[in-house]
Amino acid sequence: MKILVHTCCAPCANVYIGGLKSEGANCDLYWYNPNIHPFTEYRDRRDSLVKFAANREIELVMEDYYGLKGFIAATFEHLHKPGQRCRVCYGMRMAAAAREAKNRGYEAFSSTLLVSPYQDFEMLCEQGEALAEKNGIKFVVRDFRENFRKGLNEARAQGYYMQKYCGCVFSEEERYDN
Ligand code: SF4
Repeated sequence: MKILVHTCCAPCANVYIGGLKSEGANCDLYWYNPNIHPFTEYRDRRDSLVKFAANREIELVMEDYYGLKGFIAATFEHLHKPGQRCRVCYGMRMAAAAREAKNRGYEAFSSTLLVSPYQDFEMLCEQGEALAEKNGIKFVVRDFRENFRKGLNEARAQGYYMQKYCGCVFSEEERYDN
């Protein structure tokens, strides 16, 4: 089964793709993250993933779109409700991954977001299953969260860019303003 894996960054890809590959999965990466701000942060994460894909010889489907304006417009009504904001944010990225997987002839899609203990695993699964049904493809779920720290340390040692916050300008404020 060929899987298109929405990928948020190189460190999470190292953990999640590593886990899938160890099971013999056939997967490619998909970059679409309009939630990463400001532009310099977006560029650093993007370029680090490009390097990761080249080093691991994994195909990377790029949707290179810095989406600050679209992201703010989509989440504006939830600015004071982080849970709802994240739901919209997951939905934007997962829906694009499901659509792209379907259009490109993949049998399934997944997301590296599933490997981060900072993300809402259950919400991601719920959205993934709904999008799979809507698009007529499968949603692959693996729980590799216990490998998260080890995988991040490996990525750091290999020189990949390590982000300090989730992605959006709001998560940057939440990370530093306390
Ligand atoms: S905190 Fe992370 S998941 Fe939530 S809206 Fe911001 S970038 Fe998206």
